[in-house]
Amino acid sequence: MIPETVKVNGGRKPIHNMSDMLDLTLPLTEKILRYPGDSLPIFKKETDIERGDVLTVSHLSMNCHAGTHVDAPAHFLGDGETLDELRLGRFHGPAVVYEYLDCDVIASQDLRAAQIPERHHMFLKTRNSELLQRDTFSSTYCTVSPDAAELLCALQPLSVGFDYYSLDPYEEETGFPAHTVFARAGIPVYVCLNLKDVPVGEYLFSGFPLRLAGAEASPVRAVLMQAVESSRRENHSRKVT
Ligand SMILES: [Zn+2]
Repeated sequence: MIPETVKVNGGRKPIHNMSDMLDLTLPLTEKILRYPGDSLPIFKKETDIERGDVLTVSHLSMNCHAGTHVDAPAHFLGDGETLDELRLGRFHGPAVVYEYLDCDVIASQDLRAAQIPERHHMFLKTRNSELLQRDTFSSTYCTVSPDAAELLCALQPLSVGFDYYSLDPYEEETGFPAHTVFARAGIPVYVCLNLKDVPVGEYLFSGFPLRLAGAEASPVRAVLMQAVESSRRENHSRKVT
């Protein structure tokens, strides 16, 4: 029993409950949208109750970059941190979702107008959220410019999240400039976040990777929990023309 003088959660209203959770995770199937050249997941039943076995045991074989996942700096840098070298606070904490639905490249001037808080998970919702619902990859997705990545890095985000497979243009001959900016700063990047039905605003986020030893990426179950009233969310809507 808790004495009346003790206030749970510092006396503040709890910031989430089960009904407030928004799942940003794409269903992981053998037909999931994939980055060109990557292999698809393979599910096998090693034993199956339906076939008369005493229990069901599934086997999953997959590329770590299939569907909703998080990339560690080691994905882009030979000496970058792997997922198990990043602190757990990189995968949980306060988050903001901003919306840039009408642009092809998010540039630094788009972000300057947004008054982005420091030390939050920073998620960018774009027109890619529609592309993410399709069966086949589109090379004409919205991207993030390297100067916008530099500006975000200065705000020390816990992570950055995007609604397609890459921040950088497809087949960019110069490599992955925006991703490399975050990798150099030790910041993980979530990709293929399904933000289609997520209102802009402030949230609590959880997206823990598997504890894969030495891995540069892992599938995640990415979830936002609503933290503030809807009226405050409108301050985060920035439609670029
Ligand atoms: Zn990846």
